Amino acid sequence: MFIFIIRMLKHCFSLFCITFFLGAFTGCAITEPSQSEFVLGTICTITLYEQGKLQVYRDIFRRFREIEDRMSVGPEKTDVARINANAGIGPVKVHEDVFEVIERAVYYAEISEGAFDPTVEPLVSLWGIGGDNARIPLQEEIDAVLPLIGWRNIELDREHCTVYLKRSGMALDLGAIAKGFAADEAVEIVKKARIKRAIIDLGGNILVYGEKKDKSPWKVGIQNPFDSRGAYIGIVQVGEKTVVTSGVYERFFEAEGVRYHHILSPFEGRPARSGLLSVSIVTGQSMDADALSTAVFVLGYERGRALLESLEGVEGIFVLNDMSIRLTGGLDFILTDDNYRIVSD
Ligand code: FAD
Ligand code: MG
Repeated sequence: MFIFIIRMLKHCFSLFCITFFLGAFTGCAITEPSQSEFVLGTICTITLYEQGKLQVYRDIFRRFREIEDRMSVGPEKTDVARINANAGIGPVKVHEDVFEVIERAVYYAEISEGAFDPTVEPLVSLWGIGGDNARIPLQEEIDAVLPLIGWRNIELDREHCTVYLKRSGMALDLGAIAKGFAADEAVEIVKKARIKRAIIDLGGNILVYGEKKDKSPWKVGIQNPFDSRGAYIGIVQVGEKTVVTSGVYERFFEAEGVRYHHILSPFEGRPARSGLLSVSIVTGQSMDADALSTAVFVLGYERGRALLESLEGVEGIFVLNDMSIRLTGGLDFILTDDNYRIVSD
């Protein structure tokens, strides 16, 4: 209970920071109405400019809860839980939302050569990072689970909208991609309501929609990996884009001076040690950015950059362990923290 209260306080604090930051840097009054709810495992804050109606906020949060009810690993009635319970048994018919996200997850698993892998759930459970029972598993435990990780053993049947995990004990976790899908869905609701400008913030996964009144770019802060939520190392100026970050700071525990974070290498079965503190992806669709931020974090700077450069309209901000920042070509980034330095290759 105590831990829960601390977490909620932390979230409230970060909420204040985000609201303040966006207010300060988007050039809009801090009083711009926004609404927040704890859903999808994080605080989600929606800011609808000018014509923001209560009903639109309600529709967006209802949609988030619907996505959560379909895509969470538990309780057992969600589509993902049913897929997992039927691993090695048979295909499961799922809602088209779930099919779409899994299909996209498989695509990103393929192009990242398995660095992003939605079948990582047995490892996520083993480590328990972010929960109250986080621990360092024995190597034998990791070795026992590793054979269950493998996106190639996901069988998708588009015609019947079914998903089958071919090996018993396999399990999906869509935590690295489903928030992105939810952000894109929020924008669809915003568009239908003919709202001109909005900020969708799902625990630091940002999507800005529309053009600011004065036509200046939106300014989105890049989180300082060593500081509390809301402290930034710099600002990226963007048009109608999403900025999604994966980093060592989001969920972790420490043991004997070592930080164990929640982004796992599907190859080693441990928190990925790829030389990155964080990576932020800037692109059009939040689902793509979400999957790519996790994939690139696991791949590391060189392979991650090569992956981004092979894709159309995707940019990246890499923060390396040595406090250097590297950027792909098309970004307008302003460094605000002089503990870091921008290095060009
Ligand atoms: P990202 O980098 O985007 O994702 C990291 C997360 O993806 C990890 O936490 C892990 O779950 C998974 N992952 C780790 N390594 C890999 C990999 N190599 N490839 C693919 N995936 C990987 N949190 C709760 O505490 N309780 C909840 O009930 C809960 N329900 C959720 C329901 C939904 C539908 C979603 C989308 C999220 C939920 N979460 C919940 C949060 C979730 O568990 C993740 O911790 C969170 O999404 C992490 O996002 P991120 O942006 O920090 O990092
Ligand atoms: Mg992600």
